[in-house]
Amino acid sequence: MAGNDRCLFCRIAAGEIPAKKIYEDDEIIAFHDINPQAPTHVLVVPRRHVATLDSMNEADAQLIGRLMLRAAQIARDQQLTSDGYRVVVNTGEAAGQTVFHIHFHLLGGRNFGWPPG
Ligand code: AMP
Ligand code: ZN
Repeated sequence: MAGNDRCLFCRIAAGEIPAKKIYEDDEIIAFHDINPQAPTHVLVVPRRHVATLDSMNEADAQLIGRLMLRAAQIARDQQLTSDGYRVVVNTGEAAGQTVFHIHFHLLGGRNFGWPPG
């Protein structure tokens, strides 16, 4: 599968950079965020390099669904479901995206404000 050899999350997916992985299959990896913004902060990431949500199209619908369902399963595994949790996809610089390989943030273990900052 074509990766981007300079992309941080492609390199984590390839095992070239260590991460605290909690899930992986042939399509998706999930690992703890290095700078957690909540007691549980996991990134759910496709192995395939896709820069942002805006780069995805109809052909990616099943992948997006599986990423979201995987986030929900990890939330159950991490006992986040009863208190609630948040799944976030920052898209573009103004929204705070810093790594341009799409990832779903799974955040839980504290209360979250709304609207988000
Ligand atoms: P975003 O700002 O939405 O693009 O999210 C990127 C996330 O990647 C941030 O929450 C960072 O803390 C996280 N991050 C950056 N480098 C690493 C790394 N080497 N391992 C795990 N998480 C990382
Ligand atoms: Zn990448």
